[in-house]
Amino acid sequence: MDKTNDSSVKKMAELLRRGATMLAESCPQCGSPLMKVENDIYCATCDRRIVYADSDEEAETQAVKVLIPQLRETLIRKLSSLTNVLDTENDTEALTKLANLMVLLLQALHKLESMSS
Ligand SMILES: [Zn+2]
Repeated sequence: MDKTNDSSVKKMAELLRRGATMLAESCPQCGSPLMKVENDIYCATCDRRIVYADSDEEAETQAVKVLIPQLRETLIRKLSSLTNVLDTENDTEALTKLANLMVLLLQALHKLESMSS
């Protein structure tokens, strides 16, 4: 389909008439110029609102932060079940592996705490 088809041009013109401004940025989806309508950024070609995160990195951080409570809970559950295994395990080699694993889990937990603060 043509990126700047009639209907999107018409829509853009109408938005401009209603006081929208054309932005320098283009739509990440279709490459059409984006319009600013009041506080919304809008693509007339895709006929949808464009929601920007401040940056990709920030969006990623946000996504990770949502996961933190769940991850934390999982890590703690694993640690507590490992503690039970450690208690019954007498093989040195297995104990070493378990201890290493616990250290890794504790490090992960520590990292999560520092991320969520
Ligand atoms: Zn678009």
